[in-house]
Amino acid sequence: MTFTDAEFGEVVVRKNAWVVNPKFSVATNGKLTISVPKHTTLFLAKRWLNASRKAIREQLPVNDPSTQRARDAQKKILAKKARDYLPYRLDFWAKKYGYEYKNLRLSHANTRWGSRSSSGTISLNIGLMKLPEPLRDYVIIHELAHINHMDHSQAFWDEVALHDPSYKRHRKALKMFTPGV
Ligand SMILES: [Zn+2]
Repeated sequence: MTFTDAEFGEVVVRKNAWVVNPKFSVATNGKLTISVPKHTTLFLAKRWLNASRKAIREQLPVNDPSTQRARDAQKKILAKKARDYLPYRLDFWAKKYGYEYKNLRLSHANTRWGSRSSSGTISLNIGLMKLPEPLRDYVIIHELAHINHMDHSQAFWDEVALHDPSYKRHRKALKMFTPGV
């Protein structure tokens, strides 16, 4: 559900069975989102927003998403999402297809979605958290396939295709996004 707030504009309320205390975040489209416990009423969500107004203003200057401060806030949110999600997702695909990597490094680079070093470290960009899941998975599978192929040879792409048959479409779609915040 959504409601319109005089200060923050349209506010999206997400009910989530796993949420214990209300949490706020800013979606990539700039809308303020509040995650609330499953049975929260609109009245309670509004009351919580009112009580948290100052904290939201300080941390998330949603009124001007072009400011550096907004970008910093956005980066912080993405970094947290990435820490919570990417290690598990990488592990999931690696185990599923029998890849071994040394460790995962989360990067903030502006140009690369991911990389794999010869020492066995896989880097994944926190900006991946802005992408639809199939594109995110494509990047992870791409980097895992580099464990067996250091280049972008046909053999490399054949291996990517094995685990992501739609990789060509995903690779093309990825060009519409940039990793930087
Ligand atoms: Zn590559």
